[in-house]
Amino acid sequence: MNLIQLADTLFSRYARISRADKTGGAKCICCGKPDHWSTLDCAHFVGRSCMALRWSIDNGWPCHRTCHDAPEHLVKYERALLAAYGQDFVEDLKWRGKRYQKAPNEEELTQIINQLTFKLTVYANKKSIG
Ligand SMILES: [Zn+2]
Repeated sequence: MNLIQLADTLFSRYARISRADKTGGAKCICCGKPDHWSTLDCAHFVGRSCMALRWSIDNGWPCHRTCHDAPEHLVKYERALLAAYGQDFVEDLKWRGKRYQKAPNEEELTQIINQLTFKLTVYANKKSIG
C-alpha cells in the first residue's frame, strides 16, 4: 500500500466513524437511512482526482454501496448537503473542487496520514466503535 492508498483508507474510516452514533450507526448521505458505518462506503462529492478535497471531511460522507453506484447519486448527494448545510457550503465545495492543486509530496502525505491516525484514535477512545 502506498501513502496515497493509506491516506485514502484512513480517510474513509474517519469520514464514516466520525458520523456514527454510539452504536456505530451512520446515515447514508444519499437516502438518509442508517446502517453500521463499517458496511457503508465513503462517497466523495467532488471526485478524488481533486487533491484539494480528497481528504477533506466536508467532501466525504457515509453512503450505501448501492446508493453510491446509482446513476442519480450526485443529485441526491447535493440535495442532502444543501438541506443540511445550505447553498454556501455546497458552492464553496464546488469552487474548491475546481481549483488546481498538485499532488501532495511524501512529507505532506505523511502529515495527512498522521492527522487522520490521530483523529481516528480520538474517535476510537470516544466511542466504542473502532
Ligand atoms: Zn443509501
